Amino acid sequence: MLEGKVAIVTGASRGIGRAIAVELAGRGADITVNYCGSREKAEETAELIRAKGRRALLVRADVSDSSQVEEMFRQTAEEFGRIDILVNNAGITRDNLLLRMSEEDFDAVINTNLKGAFLCMKQAAKRMLKQKSGRIINISSISGVAGNAGQANYCAAKAGIIGLTKSAAKELGSKGITVNAIAPGYICTDMTDVLNDTVKDTILTRIPLKRFGSPEDIAYTAAFLASDEAAYITGQVLGTDGGMS
Ligand code: NAP
Repeated sequence: MLEGKVAIVTGASRGIGRAIAVELAGRGADITVNYCGSREKAEETAELIRAKGRRALLVRADVSDSSQVEEMFRQTAEEFGRIDILVNNAGITRDNLLLRMSEEDFDAVINTNLKGAFLCMKQAAKRMLKQKSGRIINISSISGVAGNAGQANYCAAKAGIIGLTKSAAKELGSKGITVNAIAPGYICTDMTDVLNDTVKDTILTRIPLKRFGSPEDIAYTAAFLASDEAAYITGQVLGTDGGMS
């Protein structure tokens, strides 16, 4: 259980981030609900958290902006007094084939999906080192492990997340901080809803468990990594992908 713990979940307005925020709250944690553009959706997440009897702090911050990230951590510390769990979930896609991919789309995905996690980890680690405990959970992707045509920017960012995770695990382990990544397969959210039915059918043939994942499937993995039971796990990449990898 996570009673008395405080978690920051980035990109918690929708999809996987919302499911993680609500699951951690259900297990007893108070939550900073980070969002960027979807204020109303983030308020819905906060309501779901409060319905579980936990506190929710809504913070608008673009994770790729260091000053906004710093302010989010300051507000969280001011409101809750501590930070025990960071979930780096915020992410975007700007898919295109390598030769057609603009520099702008490459930078946007790297900045949000990879640099954003780095900026949040720095802020979290600073506080967790003082507490001598903490859990950092980074959302990578099966695409970061295997690569995917049309997603060079996204796959590079998600592979980068794995390197970031493994390095930070080695740096922070002696201070009681674990750092792990989750590599989801295909999960039903707004991000994947845009794919056409032919692509979805092809993906389904590659999933041994014969269904797409739900945001809750990822939330359960995150809740496990945040739990006391996962205290001896660090530097790992957990594939929650229905067997795809
Ligand atoms: P989603 O439904 O599109 O939600 C993305 C979330 O990220 C939203 O809450 C969005 O907030 C937030 N976000 C985007 N840019 C941000 C920024 N600059 N600063 C702060 N927040 C930002 O996506 P999802 O499917 O839930 O994906 C969540 C994570 O899982 C992503 O990292 C994604 O790469 C990863 N993932 C997803 C799948 C999948 O199949 N869905 C598979 C593997 C990995 P606003 O709406 O408020 O802007």
